[in-house]
Amino acid sequence: MARAAVTIDVDSLSCYRAIHGLGEAPLDEDPIYTVALPRFFGLLAEAKIPATLFCIGRDAPAHAGAFARVGELGCEIASHSYAHDYALSRRTPVEIREDLLRADAALRALSPSGRIAGFRAPGYNTSPALLNEVIALGYYDSSLLPAPMYFAARAAAIGLYRARGRTSSSLVGDPRAFAGPLSPYRTSAETPWRETGGALLELPMTCAPRTRVPLFGTSLNAFPTRLFHRWVDHALEAVPLFNFEMHAIDLLDAHDAGVPPELVEAQPDLRRSISEKLFRFSKLFRRLADEAEVVTLAKQASA
Ligand SMILES: [Zn+2]
Repeated sequence: MARAAVTIDVDSLSCYRAIHGLGEAPLDEDPIYTVALPRFFGLLAEAKIPATLFCIGRDAPAHAGAFARVGELGCEIASHSYAHDYALSRRTPVEIREDLLRADAALRALSPSGRIAGFRAPGYNTSPALLNEVIALGYYDSSLLPAPMYFAARAAAIGLYRARGRTSSSLVGDPRAFAGPLSPYRTSAETPWRETGGALLELPMTCAPRTRVPLFGTSLNAFPTRLFHRWVDHALEAVPLFNFEMHAIDLLDAHDAGVPPELVEAQPDLRRSISEKLFRFSKLFRRLADEAEVVTLAKQASA
């Protein structure tokens, strides 16, 4: 039977304000935690599957109540860094270590196992310095998205912001990190896009095997459902772990209380209706429950 994992990056709305150059003011009432997460847990409960939640150490513990269902649903809490600094990969080893240790300490309290076993880099941006710290903590890594077209599209978007005189916190990054293997592999901090048998276990996010279209939440919401599920067919057949990545913002729309209008302008997927989105995610989760053994990434890493 195929294996699958549902993973969600719980990025606060202030992260999106930073990407779009709208400032980083944190919100008192952040619908990521009050609206999107309850919807996510509802979908998991309906499909009876667990998930891995990559959380921000600085933000998540202030919303501990939003994570009350993780134990009951068999979910894993993993690290998405302490401050969600898009340039964390460019900091010094000491700064990186400090950030990751703070995140580990802050997130343990939310973790049903009492420990943190894995990491996903903010903005998928890695570097040898960052991955060496991930190895030092004994974590698995799930930061690589082997989708060359995603890299190209993001670089173009950052260039467009620059041309308009706005600064995005997003980084262009290294194109080789977006062209690696589709299956889990052991690698090294210096060349994480290549299987080297090294100390780092990389669990890449899944892309369609032929086209390398990323099979993540953004494409589930954007592409025709039939086409997306055809890519899922191929992935379940060809890849030993279908590692589905989504963001909590995928489960919000423009009408939800607390979603700022300037963000809706910058983030067009917020204009798609929540009922359509819930329909699509529910269909995918129920399909994975039927056709695959759905595991947390920690369980996959310990296998
Ligand atoms: Zn993130």
